[in-house]
Amino acid sequence: MERNVIVKSFSAHKGLNSPLTITPQMQRDMVDMLNGNMFTGLVMTFVAFSGLTFGFNTDNDQSTKMILWAAMIIVTLARLADGLYWHFQLKGTGYSVKAVKFRFAVGVYLISVIWALYSVLLHSSMSAVELATTMVVLGAMAGGAASVLAPSKTLVSIYTTSLLVPMSVCALFHDDENFFVLGVLGMVFWMGILSSSLRYHRFFFDTVSLRDKNNHLIEQMRSDKKETAKINAMLRKSNEQLDDANANLEDEVEKRTADIFRLSNRDPLTNLLNRNGLFKQLNTLIETTRALDNNLAVLFIDLDGFKQVNDSLGHKIGDIVLAEIANRLARYCEKDHLARWGGDEFVAVTPYATVHTAVAVAHAMRSGVTEPIIALDNQITLDATIGIAIYPEHGNDTMTLIQQADLTMYDQKRKQRGTIGVFSETLHEKIKHEQHLCEQLRYAKEKNEFSVYYQPVVCANTQKITSVEALLRWHCDGQLVSPAHFIPLAERTGLMPDIGSWVLNRACIDATEWPFDEKIALSVNVSISQLLGERFINSLDKVLASTNIEPALLYLEITESVFANNIEAVALQIHNIKQRGVKISIDDFGTGYSSLSRLQSMPCDVIKIDRSFVQNTNEGSDTIMRATMLIAKEFDCKTIAEGIETLDQMNHVKTLGVDFIQGFLYAKPMPLSDLKTWYNENN
Ligand code: C2E
Ligand code: MG
Ligand code: MG
Repeated sequence: MERNVIVKSFSAHKGLNSPLTITPQMQRDMVDMLNGNMFTGLVMTFVAFSGLTFGFNTDNDQSTKMILWAAMIIVTLARLADGLYWHFQLKGTGYSVKAVKFRFAVGVYLISVIWALYSVLLHSSMSAVELATTMVVLGAMAGGAASVLAPSKTLVSIYTTSLLVPMSVCALFHDDENFFVLGVLGMVFWMGILSSSLRYHRFFFDTVSLRDKNNHLIEQMRSDKKETAKINAMLRKSNEQLDDANANLEDEVEKRTADIFRLSNRDPLTNLLNRNGLFKQLNTLIETTRALDNNLAVLFIDLDGFKQVNDSLGHKIGDIVLAEIANRLARYCEKDHLARWGGDEFVAVTPYATVHTAVAVAHAMRSGVTEPIIALDNQITLDATIGIAIYPEHGNDTMTLIQQADLTMYDQKRKQRGTIGVFSETLHEKIKHEQHLCEQLRYAKEKNEFSVYYQPVVCANTQKITSVEALLRWHCDGQLVSPAHFIPLAERTGLMPDIGSWVLNRACIDATEWPFDEKIALSVNVSISQLLGERFINSLDKVLASTNIEPALLYLEITESVFANNIEAVALQIHNIKQRGVKISIDDFGTGYSSLSRLQSMPCDVIKIDRSFVQNTNEGSDTIMRATMLIAKEFDCKTIAEGIETLDQMNHVKTLGVDFIQGFLYAKPMPLSDLKTWYNENN
């Protein structure tokens, strides 16, 4: 690539500070112009030289003139040939600018030399007229060259100088003083022509540079246009591709959105709505129902017996059962109105339903659930407890309705599994009260609100006191709350092990202050969570050690219901208790789950017949009491009849052979201080 040449020559001369950049194109333009003007120049040279040579005949130097004329002819012909070669062969091709310029310059230099020689060699023999004529011709030639050779500063300078300076200098120093004026004129001419030729030169380059820049700009514009067209085409293509991609993307996004919606709103196992989906659906349904001023029912369904299926048959079967139950429930409501709330809990929404319709749907659902399920060769029978809440009667919004239905189900489950309950204000109040009690229960111990009452147990034959049962009392906000009420709450909130251990400790301490003359046993109730608590045996040991109570005089009462579950753990704890010499009583016997085989594995010392049998005078109760007496005899246990309030009841149980009697007939549960008075009065 040819490098650009920076020309500073005229910048200083013209007071221009910007350097002139000569591009290769400008070089070419310069050579083209020099060669293009060459023919006129050659003709002028030939005519002028021939005119001067043959116009003035001077005898002495005619031969010198002829020699110079011949030299001029040769150089002129050579330049003509070179000019023609350029014109016909090179012009418009990618010819070497440097070589053509060089040949042109050589031609101009040779002509310059010939003109200089002409002046120097011939001036002395010239007449005043010839010299003046020669001076005029040379001046005209120099003037012409000023524009023709303007593209090259060097050429124009050398050419005009060689035409005018030698002749003018010779005239200045000529013997004839008249020539002096001609010499001065020649020098002035020379300077004028030189100065204007240099201006031409600058003008020429400015023009060429401008044209070059224009061309360059046009070229640039063309290429930019081409590039723009290319980019436009690419953009068009990209746009088309983008449109295609967008169309695909929209499909994909639609599909993904549907997937995300499904994942975030559906339960994968049952394909029912999940909690999230239920909230959305129920919100919409409530809005519609509100607009129509209608009712809507929310059914909270909890399976009974599912936990046992999962625990005993494994999660795989558990999953099959849940999916099957979901299908069965879906028979009684729209699939989009049914949700899996979690675990074995479902929520169904029945729009436009009154209590009556909702209960009917709940019954239908229960009957669907209770049909036997076959899962991997296992036949499974479940039941469901259902709580119902109605919009707007029981709640105005999604969360409240679900909560009320859930609470109803929970309450129903506590009362009787496999039943249906409808939310009521009473239930709401009861739940609120329970929540309040639960809250109070947490701080009851610190607030010294607990105390232990004692109820004597007497021997059926001697009517003498043989033991006392410790019964917990809670004075909450100055009011006595029944243990039958708060103990289940304490069990639910996990507070029972701690409270029970406090009772055991308190009762054993009180036992060290018994007002009795003979050895009287102490009975303390122990709940299931307390019995199975990991710290139970430890706290029993501590109590035995700290109070020095005789283990054989301590009876721990466990309700018969503890045998319903976790039989191994219960058996182990009973074994640990008996190992310490402490006795076991089975409380509320006849109301729970005892079977003979279980009793066999749970060695107990006393069986307490529940007061419901004692107070019921029907034959069924009697039969149960008789059976209990037989079982007790079989297992070598003593019996206590609870809840004896009348002499008749007392005589009746005595005839049945009960060993001990406990009831209001003898004494109600009382504080330790009252027990002393009672004992002194009744002993
Ligand atoms: P329970 O262990 O069967 O206690 C006997 C309950 O029958 C006591 O009720 C007692 O007051 C009541 N009772 C006794 N004789 C009669 C009678 O002639 N007529 C009537 N109507 N009732 C009689 P209480 O004290 O309300 O206790 C209820 C239940 O609360 C107890 O039944 C026991 O299961 C539980 N409980 C009480 N204190 C404790 C405790 O410290 N720990 C545990 N785990 N449970 C306790
Ligand atoms: Mg008891
Ligand atoms: Mg009892």
